[in-house]
Amino acid sequence: MKNITITIDVEEDCPPMLTSTKGMEEGLPKLLDLFKKEGIKATFFVTGMMAEKYPDLITRIPKEGHELGCHGYTHARFDRMETEEARIALKQAGKVLRQFEKKLVSFRAPNLQFPAKYLKLLEKEGFLYDSSLAAYKPPFPRSRVEGKIIRIPATITSSFLRLPPALFLPLLKQAKAPVLFVHPWEFVDMSALPIRPDCKFNTGEKALQNLKTLIHASKAENCPFLTMEERASLEKL
Ligand SMILES: [Zn+2]
Repeated sequence: MKNITITIDVEEDCPPMLTSTKGMEEGLPKLLDLFKKEGIKATFFVTGMMAEKYPDLITRIPKEGHELGCHGYTHARFDRMETEEARIALKQAGKVLRQFEKKLVSFRAPNLQFPAKYLKLLEKEGFLYDSSLAAYKPPFPRSRVEGKIIRIPATITSSFLRLPPALFLPLLKQAKAPVLFVHPWEFVDMSALPIRPDCKFNTGEKALQNLKTLIHASKAENCPFLTMEERASLEKL
């Protein structure tokens, strides 16, 4: 690995299956504490609504050196919105999130669904980087520039980290510059809740231990932890 980018999509618990916010109350503080202890930086893509509801937690993100990014206003999918709705959602989210961090340049759409025709809206709202593509799904997109937006795909899906480390570590080490994404709710035990099996397996303490293992393995390779913004600026060169 040349470098690694850890991203966290900050939202309700496993949307749209649940509307609870255990991840916000229990998972997000655990993640922030872990990153602080390990001395690493990450990028948090936060919905405007979660920022309004949990201002004290969201304040910690830029204060502790992480990048604050945007994950829409609600967790509604942009591919199901008309242009005007999409424009309003981005504007509303930007307005809320910029109260926490003036420099808001990175975006990831809920469900990694963002029609290319809306990239112009991102530009207008001052975003420079988009991480709404999934490199692990056909047509397996790579980083690219579209208009003025640099698109850096997510390369590793969140449930990957909940597999046994003996399985995910070799795969991770093969990746040149992985962009991993996780959610605060994955670090809360969701096993008793009515959600899809792939969403609930190994959630809670096991997921947290696996994340620690991943961080330590990356450190052992002297692999730097980059925020989305840092990662994207390398792409420009
Ligand atoms: Zn999301």
